Amino acid sequence: RAKASGGNHFHFYAAAMGTHAHRHLRLETGLQRGLLREEFVLHYQPQVDIASGRIVGLEALLRWQPRGGDMVAPSDFIPLAEETGLIVPIGEWVLATALRQQARLESMGLAPLRMGVNMSARQFREDDVAGMVARLLRESGCSPSCLTLEITESVLMENPAQAAETMARLAQMGVRLSIDDFGTGYSSLANLRRLPIHSLKIDRSFVADIGAGVERGGEAGEAGAGGAIVQAVIALAGTMKLDVIAEGVESAAQQAFLGEHGCRQMQGYWFSRPLPAPQLERLLQAHGAGAQP
Ligand code: C2E
Ligand code: MG
Ligand code: MG
Ligand code: MG
Repeated sequence: RAKASGGNHFHFYAAAMGTHAHRHLRLETGLQRGLLREEFVLHYQPQVDIASGRIVGLEALLRWQPRGGDMVAPSDFIPLAEETGLIVPIGEWVLATALRQQARLESMGLAPLRMGVNMSARQFREDDVAGMVARLLRESGCSPSCLTLEITESVLMENPAQAAETMARLAQMGVRLSIDDFGTGYSSLANLRRLPIHSLKIDRSFVADIGAGVERGGEAGEAGAGGAIVQAVIALAGTMKLDVIAEGVESAAQQAFLGEHGCRQMQGYWFSRPLPAPQLERLLQAHGAGAQP
């Protein structure tokens, strides 16, 4: 087909690739400069224990605010940062900043129990990740048990032996490991059992489907396919004696459904959006340490 339509297509593809490559390069340069100019910032989203209504953890989420430009969402720059390896220094900045914030909250008497930090597969592949984490923990003065590293199933699949070793070292230090977006990857349960994992995070696409079930005319608490997956993940976590936390909770119906099926920890716009540090501190201050959002 491409052959038959002749040279015009070639020009079309070349032009499209040129634009793409150009955009890539601009973005890459921008990211590099962003790191030097301190254009990155973390927002923090509360994680709530439903039984007590308390904020028991935070998740640090990266934001990029280029000078003179609009805020860029992680989905628009993290893939490229991973591809180019820039995620390694950026990720180190994220961890250092999140731990500094945790230490600050502790000194203010406002710290929730745990700080969650996302770590991509590319970062996890670096030599001596555990050593880097240990150093940043030491520099912050935070206890390793306050840190939860959120990794995705892709980490476990890309290089299982190395990932297992790194996870073992982190777990020995007392750092907690959580599998993010659980259910969207293809990790084997047999493999999961052997790894020192503390919690599963139910992906928000499954949580979103709970609402869809209700909107289709079912009763509150009823759910579609997503609801069935949510139930399965909660049951699995129970069997494996892991904590389970739901992300992307946006409604009372979703909270009710999750709660009825035994999920105690939740995170989502229904409780709070991710907040810049000053707003987070005001929230924690207003409601008392560990209190309701
Ligand atoms: P994630 O780790 O699964 O984070 C949850 C995402 O869901 C966040 O998007 C959060 O803002 C969003 N979210 C939370 N509650 C709700 C809700 O109720 N409804 C909806 N629709 N969304 C909700 P965000 O901040 O855009 O981050 C997207 C992804 O980018 C993250 O997914 C994570 O994979 C990655 N990411 C973010 N920060 C970092 C980082 O510092 N390092 C690395 N390696 N990845 C990061
Ligand atoms: Mg996460
Ligand atoms: Mg997630
Ligand atoms: Mg997610």
